[in-house]
Amino acid sequence: MELLKKLCETPGISGYEERIQKVIKEELGKVTDEVKIDKLGNIIGIKKTKKAMSNSLPKKVMLAAHMDEIGFMISFIDKDGFLRFAPVGGFDPRTLIAQRVVVHGVKDIGGVIGSKPIHILEEEEKKKATKIKDLFIDVGLKKEEVSKIVKPGDFVTLDRDFKELNNKIITAKALDDRVGVYVMIEALKRIKSCYVDIYAVATVQEEVGLRGATVSSFSVEPDLGIALDVTIASDLPGTKEEEMVTNLGGGTAISLMDSHTISNKKLVDFLRKIAEENKIKYQTDILLGGGTDAGAIQRSKSGVPACTISIPTRYVHSVVEMCHKEDIESSIKLICKFLENAHQGEF
Ligand SMILES: [Zn+2]
Repeated sequence: MELLKKLCETPGISGYEERIQKVIKEELGKVTDEVKIDKLGNIIGIKKTKKAMSNSLPKKVMLAAHMDEIGFMISFIDKDGFLRFAPVGGFDPRTLIAQRVVVHGVKDIGGVIGSKPIHILEEEEKKKATKIKDLFIDVGLKKEEVSKIVKPGDFVTLDRDFKELNNKIITAKALDDRVGVYVMIEALKRIKSCYVDIYAVATVQEEVGLRGATVSSFSVEPDLGIALDVTIASDLPGTKEEEMVTNLGGGTAISLMDSHTISNKKLVDFLRKIAEENKIKYQTDILLGGGTDAGAIQRSKSGVPACTISIPTRYVHSVVEMCHKEDIESSIKLICKFLENAHQGEF
């Protein structure tokens, strides 16, 4: 879990992935033969098979897990030193009030997302829904001081430690999708024999429209693609049984469809078979309110069979995202076994 903790706590919002890129580049370097970085910042780790089937070229399998997290960009510093910000990625404003943040200026400085105390709120104000444009960051400094450190365009991340709540459950910011990156790295560590070339891509800018996966799948030209991401664990009070997406602790999730991708049916069937043969706990999911890098891979060049394998996560896009260690483990096992057997599939 040390690596996952490091991945979650390292800052890197869409378009500003430099720091997290450094961490992942080093880790991918340990489990692949060659690591490249393209012009958008995607890290492509290549592990070529030494056992190619004699009658055909080895298949190229692309894995994609996005390294960017949602955050903000500073847009304005007012006369009293309060900072205004633009969201980068899909935030729920309800989860932002009273959060601690880190503003990444000339140096990193701490701040809080402030709001008027309830004691002085008008009745009408209490009823109003929170909008991001009404929020501000307070770093506790006067304009002259803050202006020396921060300027518009600097990025902001939410400040939250990785925590193991008990021996099964972890909570952190940015599990979306650093847990996907972790699963990708761990699967590569464990793989035994493999008859395909693996392109393990840590993509950039997924949260703002699958931009990194679009260009990296274009250059990799995979024969098959799997995105590794989080999905909604909706096993919460108030969710109807028939509306359930996935359950926390219910196993890795094989996506059937999301708002960007109808998963390749043969690939889904193959993954189910692999899971069943290897007694890997899994569930299937349909998520109509979001997509993954699989959407970009599938539509690359002349088309690529693609699907998503997800780690069920509660409270996605908040600082208290929550995952179950057994789901992480079953996701690693499924990816590992899939790679070891991918040469046998017909897609
Ligand atoms: Zn994600």
